[in-house]
Amino acid sequence: MSFRPKLIASDLDGTIVAHYGEVTQRTIDAFRTAHDMGVEIFFVTGRPPRWMPEIKEAFGIGKAICGNGAQLFDLQNQKVLEEWLIPVDAQIETVKRLRKVIPQISFASEAHNYFHREKNYVPRWDVGLDNVGVDDILEIMTSPSLKLLARCSEQEISSDEMLAIATKELKDLVTVTHSNPHDSLLEISAIGVSKGATLSKIAARLGITAEDCVSFGDNPNDISMLEWCGRSYAMADGHPDAHKAAKSIAEPHTDDGVAMIIEELLKLPGIGQYTARAVLAFAHRMDVAVVDVNVSRVLSRLEGVPMKARALQNFADELVPQGLGWEWNQVMMDFGARHCTVRSPLCDSCPVRTQCKYKGVGDDPAQLSAGVSKPQPRFEGSDRQARGRALRAVGDGSHRTVDVIKEMRVDEGRGEKLIASLVEEGLLQRTGNTITLP
Ligand code: SF4
Repeated sequence: MSFRPKLIASDLDGTIVAHYGEVTQRTIDAFRTAHDMGVEIFFVTGRPPRWMPEIKEAFGIGKAICGNGAQLFDLQNQKVLEEWLIPVDAQIETVKRLRKVIPQISFASEAHNYFHREKNYVPRWDVGLDNVGVDDILEIMTSPSLKLLARCSEQEISSDEMLAIATKELKDLVTVTHSNPHDSLLEISAIGVSKGATLSKIAARLGITAEDCVSFGDNPNDISMLEWCGRSYAMADGHPDAHKAAKSIAEPHTDDGVAMIIEELLKLPGIGQYTARAVLAFAHRMDVAVVDVNVSRVLSRLEGVPMKARALQNFADELVPQGLGWEWNQVMMDFGARHCTVRSPLCDSCPVRTQCKYKGVGDDPAQLSAGVSKPQPRFEGSDRQARGRALRAVGDGSHRTVDVIKEMRVDEGRGEKLIASLVEEGLLQRTGNTITLP
């Protein structure tokens, strides 16, 4: 059975961003819904960080890997968190080797917020960023580079042809790829650095395996990521080598191909946002907010208005102090349970009274907010109780369906229905008349 992915990684340009720079609302909604359901979102791109503000603006969620895997980028705060750069000696050697085999080649170099080029390197992007240029790129090769760009400015050789030559020449020195078969441009990173290598590293830190990752891409610089992820999709109008590397094909971005796939993936069974965030916050000590009933109540009272689920989550995420996510979540849950309680909030002795817009006076905004506790139906005799008994019954091995239903203490029809729902959600597995855990 297929499960909802825990992580979605997507290339940007040509995959979800149109060549004129726009992202459709359907695509934005698909990624935001996945994020709200607890799926980690990574935008994995060849772009340098200075091209990322528009992505933050469009989506408002997610993390980023920039420079074809060279940088882990905090998209929401626009900060480089970690980077894997090309050492100076490898840059110099790369230039020397490529000039020998492609004499008309010219170079540019990316690092943090600068872009330097040779005079012969005619940029198609970043026009105007370095208007002067240098005669020989070796003149500015004094510090590690995020990405080297190598171009034939007259378009004499295609990117594919350049890549075939360069791969042979540089395989022991750097990683070389390209992102546009219609150009004449190579993109070069440090050896071992690629979108797939960095994604696998970051996923491992989150406790997520390749089987739980889905990726989307359209060009050779996406191949490592398409190969690594358990499920991957190349865009139908993408490069033939991306098609070979991916497990499946998605409709082109002009038809919202990625959004279409994500919408289907989200219908698969999987853990919800609360559980996913709780695992990240408490097991992996990540700075994410876990919004339970107590936290929802406190936040809506602080704001003084009823709040919807997304607004509560966004508000909570903004409040989590960097490096103190674990502590913040513990304090908030405890504060809601003991101090800002449902019926008798201790407003007079509240440490955040001055910031609170409700203060226990007037209509309680928490009453109409999402996620706050509502009267629960009786547990005794409920479906929840019977489902719990079914899971407990098969916890130590396989069991006959008839025995499990007996343990559930419900009639056969109801038992069959509840077992079918547990199987559909991926919590139980049924083979003939036998039931086991998946
Ligand atoms: S002032 Fe009262 S309602 Fe507001 S956060 Fe404190 S305990 Fe809760």
